[in-house]
Amino acid sequence: MSLGLVPTMGNLHAGHLALVERSIRENKKTIVSVYVNPLQFGPNEDFDQYPRTLDADRAILSQYDTVTLWAPTTKDLYPLGVANAYGITAPKAMAQHWCGNSRPHFFDGVCTVVFRLCQQANPTRLYMGEKDYQQCTIIQGLIHDYRLPISVVPCPIVREADGLAYSSRNQYLSPAERVHATQLYRAIQAAQTTVTNGEPNPAMVIQTCQACLGSPLKIDYVGIADPCSLKPIDRDIRPNDRLMLAAHLGKTRLVDNHEFHLGTSRAAGTH
Ligand code: AMP
Repeated sequence: MSLGLVPTMGNLHAGHLALVERSIRENKKTIVSVYVNPLQFGPNEDFDQYPRTLDADRAILSQYDTVTLWAPTTKDLYPLGVANAYGITAPKAMAQHWCGNSRPHFFDGVCTVVFRLCQQANPTRLYMGEKDYQQCTIIQGLIHDYRLPISVVPCPIVREADGLAYSSRNQYLSPAERVHATQLYRAIQAAQTTVTNGEPNPAMVIQTCQACLGSPLKIDYVGIADPCSLKPIDRDIRPNDRLMLAAHLGKTRLVDNHEFHLGTSRAAGTH
């Protein structure tokens, strides 16, 4: 019997549900895990504030016949306790860039929890969102490196009508910040247009993108990654290279990315 696993931290939104619905189509049963994993948060990050809405999540998932919500406890996942947990270290070559630079323990925490979730749920397929492209790629590497018999299914980014990628953290934004948050998608569109118009030089495209990200946004990073190694590219842009961006807006950190295409008219991302 095929089983899909969709790891989440809960507070389910349309981005999560795209993964869930893909899993429903491809598997007899689907498990959606809901666990806010302390190992992937730094000491000054939002672990305590992170929205926990288990009842609402349960209600949303009850519409799907083949879906089970699994909300493991910390004891279930880390029997020795978080401080004594045996961890997986994400390879530095992939984890040192982008989000790993600003959140040094993040990918170790993600690898450790996803490994444990897989070990306990034993899925056929594992559904990961490209919204977190670096995470998705590192988890593909993890599954491959441990030769786990699981197919990782990367799923496209789901965006709100104005282009902002769905994220549980969007609800931290004030109404005014929510308006400024659309700068990210506009920066993505400007970068894609520059590439479509024939600019191959990553530095020029990055500059265009940065120019769209003004106050009150504070850029964490903007760059272009090789889609497999995740290294910043130092060559002409090719199709499938990833524009990577993150910015702070007040207390909220927003992360986004975009797969470049060299053709003419495809819109950036999905709505
Ligand atoms: P999270 O609950 O934020 O840990 O996300 C759980 C899974 O949903 C991860 O694989 C994310 O990449 C994915 N995800 C979150 N937001 C989106 C989105 N807007 N579009 C696609 N996938 C998403």
